[in-house]
Amino acid sequence: VFSAQPYDKSFLNQINRDHFQSVNVEFFYHISPLSKETVPLAAGCNAVCVFVNDCVDESILGLLSEQGTRGVFLRCAGFNNVDLKAAEKLGMFVACVPAYSPEAVAEFAVALMLTLKTHRAYIRVREGNFNLNSLLGFNMHGKTVGIVGVGRIGLAVARILKGFGCHLLAYDPYRVEEFQALGSYTELDDLLQQSDIVTLHCPLIDSTKHLINLDSLKFLKRGAMLINTSRGGIIDTNAVIDALKSGQIGALGLDVYVKEAGLFFIDHSFDIIQDDVFQRLITFPNVLVTGHQAFLTEEALTEIAETTFQNFQNFVDG
Ligand code: NAD
Repeated sequence: VFSAQPYDKSFLNQINRDHFQSVNVEFFYHISPLSKETVPLAAGCNAVCVFVNDCVDESILGLLSEQGTRGVFLRCAGFNNVDLKAAEKLGMFVACVPAYSPEAVAEFAVALMLTLKTHRAYIRVREGNFNLNSLLGFNMHGKTVGIVGVGRIGLAVARILKGFGCHLLAYDPYRVEEFQALGSYTELDDLLQQSDIVTLHCPLIDSTKHLINLDSLKFLKRGAMLINTSRGGIIDTNAVIDALKSGQIGALGLDVYVKEAGLFFIDHSFDIIQDDVFQRLITFPNVLVTGHQAFLTEEALTEIAETTFQNFQNFVDG
């Protein structure tokens, strides 16, 4: 288990004890991420268990395969960090946890929206300032929210925001009936033009890389809020910074960031903080950044551990 945090150990051990003793699996926990240097730590293991920012590219898969490791188990929904074609060529088994608690991430996305209403007041009061100047807020009720990617998480966001009295728009090449009862599908340009809040819930794949860029941002309603809890690469951060400067984006909430390598490790946090683009982002008072933690709820961790074991069982069963 690479990139293992204390919570991984505690949840995986608990599930193993409670449900899966028959699989007879033995885990070795490594704090370090999977890399060329750490591949040898998996020598003698049938499979590796990795997380969002572990690099599982062609060369790493080749090294794993050479030492007899056949399975890659992701403890996350996204799989953009794995070279699936290379894995297929090498005959390796790859599994992720596609359907764990979508509410964890959906609630976090909505929390970012609501916190962007309140965080300046919170900071001001901590500084002993109860002045209300320039704290004029907005109602969620009646706002138009554009959801990009209406899969499990996007749908959960839609259900929550319906309760707030929001009008819902969605852009997704694949349409589902459940959303039609909550809002309407439209094209991306139209969604950006009409929405007061845009929230991203599509995977990072070739067609979504820099989906939010200089050109698409021109369509954004002036002063709209943008929320990204999906993957950093879906937005072009430099273009977003320009849009913040010009006021095109009125508020920004990010849980994911393009350069996340080493995130979750105190020793590496410094690299991110030193990153010039990150530094520019956090100078804006209307920007909130969290450290890829939308998934981190007790309920989600239990489901992640359960599915990871089930994936392992399927691998063992062939
Ligand atoms: P999902 O597969 O259920 O839904 C993704 C949706 O995106 C699908 O409906 C798909 O049709 C749509 N989509 C695909 N290409 C698109 C495009 N070009 N434009 C618009 N929509 C497109 O996935 P999910 O479980 O809802 O998760 C969504 C993403 O959230 C994951 O891929 C992952 O990157 C991210 N995530 C983040 C965290 C976190 O902690 N921040 C946790 C879990 C998942």
